[in-house]
Amino acid sequence: MARRLVLLDIDGTLIKGGTLWAECFYTALQEFFPKIKIYKTSFGGKTDDQIYREVMSLSGVSNDEIEFQIGPLKKRYIELVLEKLPGRSREVKLLPGARELVAALSEHPDAILGLLTGNLEEGARAKLDCVGLWDYFRFGVFADDHGDRYQLPRLALEKVRKLLGLEFEKKQIVIIGDTIHDVNCGRSLGVRTIAVGTGTIVHRRLVLTQNPDFYFKDLSQTDMVLEAIFEEIE
Ligand SMILES: [Mg+2]
Repeated sequence: MARRLVLLDIDGTLIKGGTLWAECFYTALQEFFPKIKIYKTSFGGKTDDQIYREVMSLSGVSNDEIEFQIGPLKKRYIELVLEKLPGRSREVKLLPGARELVAALSEHPDAILGLLTGNLEEGARAKLDCVGLWDYFRFGVFADDHGDRYQLPRLALEKVRKLLGLEFEKKQIVIIGDTIHDVNCGRSLGVRTIAVGTGTIVHRRLVLTQNPDFYFKDLSQTDMVLEAIFEEIE
């Protein structure tokens, strides 16, 4: 059986994070810009870096100011999350089949398991620690690696080469996620995409328009998801 590099999204794919993250995200912004009206945007499929840039731009913050504040802002967001999380960690919910799939892949002799997520690494770790999933992953690519999600599959290949000394062909790479951005960022590299319907209803509708290679309503049928990952496709 050929080896697979399996890259999993977090929000809407493995977990539902609850509202803490968006709250901390906007609290940090309001602290930095107390006098302006903050315009909100959708988070799905974007990196934290990209969302901060988008919201600041929508709210009328100049490009120079965005460049100046983006680093400290992301740092403050993580500080707020870590401060508030102990009382709110139970809001983070595992999605059906997520633990079973991650456990099966982490033990699978032909799978290398990684994260491909728009979260900052510390945020990703905080979320997955709440449900005991962080330690299953060998490596990951995060918003810290690049602000543009579409660059992350390429960077995942570089990282896995550097960290584990392994090379993968496109047909050995599988991206699993709930939004069109997961499917399209996989497609940008020409890899296999598996969509799950556990994100918002809007994401579910949109993701199907992008013709992922496989679609599952959730990850609960571990054997079928594993089959989709390992099936030989020419
Ligand atoms: Mg997602």
